[in-house]
Amino acid sequence: MRILEDYRGIVDDNVLTEIYKKARRFYGKKAIHINSTYYGGGVAEMLNSLIPLMNDVGIQADWRILRGTNDFFEVTKKFHNALQSGSIRLTEIKKRLYIQANEDFSSYCHIDADFVMIHDPQPLPLIRFYKKRQPWVWRCHVDLSEPNQKLWNFLKGFILRYDEVIISNEKYRKKHLPVTQKIVYPAIDPLSPKNVSLDARTIKRHLEKFDIPMDKPLITQISRFDKWKDPEGVIEVFKRVKEKVDARLILCGSMATDDPEGWVIYQRVKRKAGKMVGSGDIILINSENNILVNVLQHISDVIIQKSLREGFGLTVTEGMWKQRPVIASNVGGIPIQIEDGVSGFLCDPNDINCFVDRIIAVLKDKKLAEELGKNARERVRQKFLITRLLSDHLSIMTDVCEMCGNH
Ligand code: UDP
Repeated sequence: MRILEDYRGIVDDNVLTEIYKKARRFYGKKAIHINSTYYGGGVAEMLNSLIPLMNDVGIQADWRILRGTNDFFEVTKKFHNALQSGSIRLTEIKKRLYIQANEDFSSYCHIDADFVMIHDPQPLPLIRFYKKRQPWVWRCHVDLSEPNQKLWNFLKGFILRYDEVIISNEKYRKKHLPVTQKIVYPAIDPLSPKNVSLDARTIKRHLEKFDIPMDKPLITQISRFDKWKDPEGVIEVFKRVKEKVDARLILCGSMATDDPEGWVIYQRVKRKAGKMVGSGDIILINSENNILVNVLQHISDVIIQKSLREGFGLTVTEGMWKQRPVIASNVGGIPIQIEDGVSGFLCDPNDINCFVDRIIAVLKDKKLAEELGKNARERVRQKFLITRLLSDHLSIMTDVCEMCGNH
């Protein structure tokens, strides 16, 4: 298990001292985090690192996963899509299924913590099924800029019960939500298997295992097979790039347990890639393997993230940390991370030409690629590492505990 001290040398010592100081008032206190999957996706990724570090600094931090049936996750995926501006038929059956799964879970998940953080919409209604005697915070990781209004209104009924809402971007702030809303940027763990530096043997072993040749420049998108990540759009971009530069595309996406749409999208992508899969010009990977993700981010000549919507985009952060030139959509949390032309490139998600031109530019100009990569790593070091996230979490706990007179 990693401890805070391990981050010495990566971040400045005063960052660590500040964290130890903020944690003092919570010695022996219990905090519980609840989300709906233990792998696949940014939330699980962050909790994996955050929870052990909270324990290391003296908090009894716990992480539980909301269990649900396939039907439940079908519904919550529809909610997820509709929160990001998709449409939905919000029937009574869907609402009942959603609420019932939360009620069922509450009967075998007892909460005796001093602080509760609920992640994303799946476990949002849980708050209704407990005798509330501690602050509850709803941490929303999705892009809330244009939610489906009917759905938002339904969810708001639960949100109003919370003491605070945390969002990832100023643009997601809701005017008509009378609950305190704070912004916390997500972060990556530089010491997790996904982000540590790798030795040549590990890289070679993984490339062999997954049959990835290194004879051409590699363009990679790491993302769940999800329509918002636009894997089909990436293929279009790639086909255009390939008319000018011989390269290979890797689309790597594991299947999260709370995302039942993955296989459908995967099959669609495979059809679109057509013969290019057989010839090895496009490689599709769907296994869950952190080190493989790390390897791919390390060896790729370009990281692309052509999302149509993106709550924050940890894959962007990860690529930047590995000093890669990242070319990504100017949506959601991505422009918070990339300064266009300095620490990567931003493109309008519908502007295929922009993606094609930028990719070709960095493939042809090694110096440009190196410069972007160097700036990208420093930007992440300054702003988007797990130590900053831990510090922000301690501040939130301090604020809400004070607000609730619970300290
Ligand atoms: N991820 C992974 N394997 C995959 C695809 C994604 O481990 O095949 C990880 C990725 O490295 C990142 C997280 O899942 O840490 C995705 O977070 P992001 O914020 O980019 O998107 P989300 O999936 O939460 O919408």
